[in-house]
Amino acid sequence: MKLFCHFRKLLASLMILLVGMSSTRADLRVASLSTVTTDLAKQIGGNHVNVEGIIKAGIDPHEFEPTPGDVKKVADANLVLLTGKGMEGYLSKLEEAAGGSAKFVNVGKDIPSLTMTEQGKKVEDPHWWHSVENMKGATRVVAEAFEKADPANASSYDKNASAYLAKLDELERWIRVKLASLPHDRRKLITSHDALGYFARDYDFTIYPVKGVSTAEDPSSQHVKEIIGVIKDQGVKAIFFETIENPRAVQQIADETGAKAGASLYSDGLGEAEGNTYDLMMRHNVSAIVNGLK
Ligand SMILES: [Zn+2]
Repeated sequence: MKLFCHFRKLLASLMILLVGMSSTRADLRVASLSTVTTDLAKQIGGNHVNVEGIIKAGIDPHEFEPTPGDVKKVADANLVLLTGKGMEGYLSKLEEAAGGSAKFVNVGKDIPSLTMTEQGKKVEDPHWWHSVENMKGATRVVAEAFEKADPANASSYDKNASAYLAKLDELERWIRVKLASLPHDRRKLITSHDALGYFARDYDFTIYPVKGVSTAEDPSSQHVKEIIGVIKDQGVKAIFFETIENPRAVQQIADETGAKAGASLYSDGLGEAEGNTYDLMMRHNVSAIVNGLK
């Protein structure tokens, strides 16, 4: 009996060792250049994938420059996820610095682009994840990349992706129900940078950005005056600060029009504590928009 007990203990430790070894061997190392793709990689990868989020919550992706430490993380990864459409202006430098082994997966590449005007030029709008439909496409892209890079765990990635797609369907239904309480003539969004174009397209909003596409430039006083005019003409109820913006111009507009400042919106990525998954981020934004405008 005692011997049997020992044998069982030995067997148990051996099992733990084997499981540990096999998961270490199967692990896919993923680096991610957006909090959105970091969350997606975790949802699809489960415990087969180690995700290194290079751009963390609260970092402005428009202004980001990789450090030597980031370059090393990218060089050590099997796959590097990026959102694309011009968001990662440093990409070719990073690819070169990291060397040839990491495979870059441009998650947004095949998602149809909206265009936006920046300083008189038409550019691709990089904020595609504000459309749940686009996020479904991104889910398929990431699942396929994981399955190709780590075929041994393909069925697990496939299963996780299906479950996540179902979760996105549920999110979409929740958004439609929530927005049903907001009449179409109230669907006017004034935000401090033009990040919600895909959201506006999906849910019939008109956007009046205080800034252009990038967070780098300050709005001209002429532009601020135009926005004040729009708010007064259209009877807009609220304007929205963003989580990583200097809200000075937005505050000035609020003061001059009496429109109230709605809760902060997540525009360029996920939150640190609240809104720290894609699902929670979208629910936060939709609730803030509905509460502000109704
Ligand atoms: Zn942005």
